[in-house]
Amino acid sequence: MRARIPVTVLGATGVVGQRFVARLATHPWFELAHLAASERSSGKSYSEACAWRMGGTAPYAGCKSRAVVECSPQAAFAPIVFSALDAGAARKIEPEFARAGALVFSNASAFRMEADVPLLVPEVNPEHLELLAVQRARRGWRGAIVCNPNCTTAILVSALAPLERAFGIEALLVASMQAVSGAGYPGVASLDALGNVVPFIRGEEPKVEEETVKLLGRVRGAAVEPAAIAVSAQCHRVAVVDGHSEAVSVRLRGAPSVAAVREVLEQWRAEPQERQLPSAPATPLVLHDAEDRPQPRLDVERDGGMSVHVGRVRACPVLGCKFFVLGHNLERGAAGASVLNAELALARGLVAL
Ligand code: NAP
Repeated sequence: MRARIPVTVLGATGVVGQRFVARLATHPWFELAHLAASERSSGKSYSEACAWRMGGTAPYAGCKSRAVVECSPQAAFAPIVFSALDAGAARKIEPEFARAGALVFSNASAFRMEADVPLLVPEVNPEHLELLAVQRARRGWRGAIVCNPNCTTAILVSALAPLERAFGIEALLVASMQAVSGAGYPGVASLDALGNVVPFIRGEEPKVEEETVKLLGRVRGAAVEPAAIAVSAQCHRVAVVDGHSEAVSVRLRGAPSVAAVREVLEQWRAEPQERQLPSAPATPLVLHDAEDRPQPRLDVERDGGMSVHVGRVRACPVLGCKFFVLGHNLERGAAGASVLNAELALARGLVAL
């Protein structure tokens, strides 16, 4: 068996960073080598620098006394780097690691829409990893940056990919109901969140609209040609802790029946399942039959938060087909997504060791 590969977590003290620490503490391929955060935290022990906010203390117990280091390649280099940095910090720090030879798997929005950066969901567009060669040649880096999309988009495209492949999507309306953990910690003030709906999340709607068509697009030469889908997103913050829900209507080519749509969703399997990647759920899309499912409280933790749930597939009098989608914003939409991206890159032989 191959020795585990050392990995770094940038932003290890934050909401997403803690999810990385919990996932990587027991990962069969990766070994947590460096915990890095801002200068406020570096030099402190992990327990001093970070208030552990996840349920379960086992991964945290193993890291409590470890020193947090600064986010520089000199202090924290590893061949695989997971970034849970804010976008501003990511824009400066992630290229430093890529230049030094690391493959950086980023949650931040800083580089997602750059033409030579793969925006990746392994079940949706694994072929976009072709852009790594373009990125390295253009930027002169030994390493590279791979991004996962915004959490709402990651969950949405997971349900759209089989429909795009089987039928083709012409138009899409999505209204999200997003968990408060999507705003980091402390995030939304409790007086705004409790018993309330906030009908605005800064920057979110354009991200969903742009990232969706990049993810469903095709690599043409040195960039992605976006999918020709008209997309309109409306994003809302609701009083749910974990799990983004989305009400979706789509116009599909050929106006397939509800039964045909259900069959395509139910049978969907992709490269992560074929390769049996450690973080890949056996069933990437779980199709629910009960009229009141999926629900965040009942369904979102299944498969370590890595499966996406679809329910209420039915006819839409406006666009033809509508359904409800649920996924875990911090796992399928963030830490788990990056770890699965790294597993795919490693399985495809793209990590320089
Ligand atoms: P967070 O809880 O605020 O954590 C931010 C992390 O970045 C902390 O570890 C912080 O370290 C570190 N940091 C901040 N400024 C830094 C700097 N100048 N240099 C080095 N480290 C710095 O945020 P989060 O919710 O985990 O989000 C992290 C990233 O993931 C963001 O880009 C976010 O957009 C993205 N994302 C979040 C979600 C979600 O559902 N929450 C989903 C998808 C993507 P200190 O503790 O030392 O300050």
